Amino acid sequence: MDFKTDIGYRRKILTKLLDAVMRREADVIEALQLDFGKPPFESVLTETSLVISELKDTIRKIHYRARQKSVFPNLLNFPSRDYIYPEPYGKVLIIAPWNYPFLLAMTPLISAVSAGNSVVLKPSEHTPSVTAIIEIIISEVFDPVHVEVFKGGAEVAEKLLQRRWDYIFFTGSTRVGKIVAKAAAEHLTPVTLELGGKNPCIVDETANLALAAKRIAWGKFMNAGQTCIAPDYVLVKSPVKTEFIGHLKKAIKAMYGENPKHSPDFARIINDSQFRRLTGLIDTTKVVHGGSFDLETHYIAPTIIDNPAMESGIMAEEIFGPLLPILAYDSDADLQNTIGRYEKPLSLYVFTSQKRFAEKIISEYSFGGGCINDTVVHFSNKKLPFGGVGYSGVGRYHGKFGFETFSHYKGIVRKATWLDITLRYAPYEKKFSLIKKILKWF
Ligand code: NAD
Repeated sequence: MDFKTDIGYRRKILTKLLDAVMRREADVIEALQLDFGKPPFESVLTETSLVISELKDTIRKIHYRARQKSVFPNLLNFPSRDYIYPEPYGKVLIIAPWNYPFLLAMTPLISAVSAGNSVVLKPSEHTPSVTAIIEIIISEVFDPVHVEVFKGGAEVAEKLLQRRWDYIFFTGSTRVGKIVAKAAAEHLTPVTLELGGKNPCIVDETANLALAAKRIAWGKFMNAGQTCIAPDYVLVKSPVKTEFIGHLKKAIKAMYGENPKHSPDFARIINDSQFRRLTGLIDTTKVVHGGSFDLETHYIAPTIIDNPAMESGIMAEEIFGPLLPILAYDSDADLQNTIGRYEKPLSLYVFTSQKRFAEKIISEYSFGGGCINDTVVHFSNKKLPFGGVGYSGVGRYHGKFGFETFSHYKGIVRKATWLDITLRYAPYEKKFSLIKKILKWF
């Protein structure tokens, strides 16, 4: 077993992992249901199928990604062969969150293994059923020297962070991301931080309002809003705000029926503390749809909050639940005024039929990634890098970006010995003007 150098071995072990994930898919779906009532359809769409497709893609392309890549040599070094040599970092620590507990543990793990690293994975303490399945899958497939699961909460993660790692990949809140970055700095360990933020969603007056409402409601209320890239709040052009809210209400009813509490397609809030935090953000005087909740079942209805005060709790922090504030705007300055109050978000969405407006927004604001006329779906394309910027994260992964994240790239010049041009060697006397002339050409 030489996972560091044997690419064929890595391919074989990832194929074994694919087989294990496919065999256990039903168990994962059941565990997600047990942990927070995640609808099986969403579990397949947003967790197992993405993991399976990441695995298939990685298995198909691992030899290509892991090969040495030749680059055009610098003629000053003539004659030489220059190439880039990917090497695994070594020992990798992956810390995962609870909201997509299978996907966000397995996807970085697949990339890390494909690049030849060993992994210690610390899944979230809040999803014990999913963690149990992950542990079974990992122990079925990997030798513990290669991949090992450590269960536990913050205390376990803090202990793990005291060890020296060659790479740390963290997904979770910005608050904990800072703790991770500080611990990593102790040994100058490189990190990827996949964090959160307040994701704006802009709807202008030229947008297809009914379709925009449907796509925003889907991206927001999937997983009961506990999605790092869910639209956090909507900025809608003033004249179409009322019409847009009407479409939003219709979209919610069409997806979850008259009473979403009885819908099998609407997830629950993960735990008491998140439930209390979220219900504390609801200002009943501003609710124009939903607003009901039930502590016993951790149910919070898909809720629309019209025009909350900018100073209110709901506009102060990442919501991470099924509460959607709607704000009106009239000008680009209004947009800047609101979006500019917050740190760079993980995603941004703009709904419009004006291409130039969409492009202006994309170029004007800094954010992790996003969509024009849709929400969330950029996550699903492995050809797109996924990651935040500023407070929403550091680094990127998915597909080849994942392989690159977990690899150090050595630049190598293999110099021929049959010729040795003497120009570079001392004594430099009389060579100065010649070298200046030659360097002008490079
Ligand atoms: P969290 O930061 O509370 O926990 C994430 C992980 O860190 C867990 O495994 C937890 O055990 C561990 N942890 C907690 N305290 C720690 C400490 N003091 N030291 C070391 N590790 C510690 O996040 P969460 O509540 O699980 O997830 C929600 C957050 O994650 C949201 O902010 C969301 O936006 C973000 N998120 C980001 C992405 C992304 O891809 N960028 C994806 C999902 C969630």
